[in-house]
Amino acid sequence: LEKVPSDIEIAMAQTPKPVAELAQEIGILPSELESYGKYKAKVDLSILERLSHRKDGKYIVVSGITPTPLGEGKSTTTIGLAQALGAELGRPSFACVRQPSQGPTFGIKGGAAGGGYSQVIPMDEFNLHLTGDIHAVTAANNLLAAALDARIFHEATQSDKALYSRLVPSKKGKREFASLMFKRLNKLGIDKTNPDDLTPEEIKRFARLDVDLETITWNRVMDTNDRFLRKITIGQNATEQGHERVTGFDIAVASECMAILALTTSLEDMQQRLGAMVVATSKSGDPITADDIGVSGALAVLLKDAIKPNLMQTIEGTPVFVHAGPFANIAHGNSSILADRVALKLAGTEEGDSSERVGYVLTEGGFGADMGMEKFCNIKCRVSGLNPDATVIVATTRALKMHGGGPDVTPGKPLHETYTKEDLVTLKEGCANLKQHIKNCKKFGVKVIVAINQFASDTNAELALVREEALSAGADGALVSNHWAQGGAGAKALAEAVVGICEGESGFKFLYDLNLSIEEKINIIGKEIYGADGIQLSDLAKQQVDTYTRQGYSALPICMAKTQYSFSHDPKLKNVPSGFTLPIRAVRLSAGAGFLYPILGDMQTMPGLGTRPGFWEVGLDKETGRVIGLF
Ligand code: ADP
Repeated sequence: LEKVPSDIEIAMAQTPKPVAELAQEIGILPSELESYGKYKAKVDLSILERLSHRKDGKYIVVSGITPTPLGEGKSTTTIGLAQALGAELGRPSFACVRQPSQGPTFGIKGGAAGGGYSQVIPMDEFNLHLTGDIHAVTAANNLLAAALDARIFHEATQSDKALYSRLVPSKKGKREFASLMFKRLNKLGIDKTNPDDLTPEEIKRFARLDVDLETITWNRVMDTNDRFLRKITIGQNATEQGHERVTGFDIAVASECMAILALTTSLEDMQQRLGAMVVATSKSGDPITADDIGVSGALAVLLKDAIKPNLMQTIEGTPVFVHAGPFANIAHGNSSILADRVALKLAGTEEGDSSERVGYVLTEGGFGADMGMEKFCNIKCRVSGLNPDATVIVATTRALKMHGGGPDVTPGKPLHETYTKEDLVTLKEGCANLKQHIKNCKKFGVKVIVAINQFASDTNAELALVREEALSAGADGALVSNHWAQGGAGAKALAEAVVGICEGESGFKFLYDLNLSIEEKINIIGKEIYGADGIQLSDLAKQQVDTYTRQGYSALPICMAKTQYSFSHDPKLKNVPSGFTLPIRAVRLSAGAGFLYPILGDMQTMPGLGTRPGFWEVGLDKETGRVIGLF
């Protein structure tokens, strides 16, 4: 294989077309486009109404095997395949990917714009601030955190009457406030609309949220791997009069506001979900929501632009929607429903169009298929009502060899020679991991194609072995793809195979019924997808399950927070582990996003920085002022 320059060198060498030109090519009206600089734009949601009569394009989820810490090229394949479908096969094609978090970008993994000749450009803008959506999510999350702590403080330091007279400043109230006030009165079962009619007892119930401090689940967030904020004490200044509390920070992309951005279906739906977010339980056992705190309208305002999908392009000019960025290990790991919907309509067909006109939408489910793909099916598709036509599983010989017993793969360190020389024995052993992912995907009733992401050191015998193993496990196709080195041209065969399997009807189905108990649903994912013997809930987790069940939240889908490096909860257990029980440390509720979120083992919701993080390489070129060192 030819020598390929670094990701950022390739990205910088290509001049993107103006975003207005790209938008025109794919049928977005100028009135639907809001440019952010020359090469990025937001797309107004009114486009969904305009194109509502169209039949959706084909919907393909790109997932992977259990990865190494280097990543196995899922983003690269999503982009490469979109380029092949567009430029090589002449089909309308769209990639839908997540906005990267600055945590991994400056941590160990680098950016997520793809790689080699299959990238989203401008890759520095893609990997850093984009159009500010993650910052908006951070602002919304932290406004709620500040509102909650301030409210607790004011309740602790004021009488019922003083509190009430400040909360209800005028009899009429402002519009937004009045609707929240009625919502709260309704929730409390108080059938009165005039604040003057409330009894002292009702005033007290209305004004006091009475937060049980032990039950607060709402953390602050930021988009940096800042391990020292995992556990902190707040309220230490004298002005807070001793109201100290231990809390912590999560990474912004693990926040519920981010999950809502990814799962919402309209502005109205978003506001309703934001209002339903539960931050704690009251001393009498009721869930306390963002609506109760009066902040849901303000949160929606902070996110009103973030809700619009961002349009960018690949190095070959293929359209890419970049929208929302939940991590796939500690969150649900999928880009937004709205971006997928807009892409599916743009890729869709009008009455009377030939089937040749149909376009393809590739959406990425983060990390291995046990994480992003499972959550794509059981969470994202349940909310959107969309059914995937096919799954692509990305595999590399590198990760398969690691599962077959190869030494650890460590970012920044040279690869052991197992990975750079032919080793069919280790590779064959590790193919068990791929086979398990194929079998798991089949449980959702969708056709599966394996994309073998070719590396320069792979031998023909190795690539042939992975193909054989994949087909023997029931894959509907297994193709070697060289899009990293060759762009879309390198993924032509893969693209043809994808077109081929999207022909028939999708037999998509969910893995579990929502009406099962919380424990049963966790158990099904543990056994069916991870291969666990069973689950073990901690006392805390049991107590949380009881609370959420009592509060009426048990019929939500499950979003497992689990390591991406193993089917199990233990990152050291490679390949296809068996004979383990999943420890459920805690269960959290994301009532607005609409899922329950069990935390397995010692999974952290705020990553840390290592000794030699990626940011060491990043800087500005002295002569050109361009960003260097992102990868
Ligand atoms: P994932 O989405 O699975 O985490 P990425 O697509 O982000 O993985 O790729 C991770 C890194 O690996 C990127 O820096 C990319 O350039 C590199 N990479 C991907 N495919 C190849 C390949 N075939 N050969 C060499 N490097 C690759």
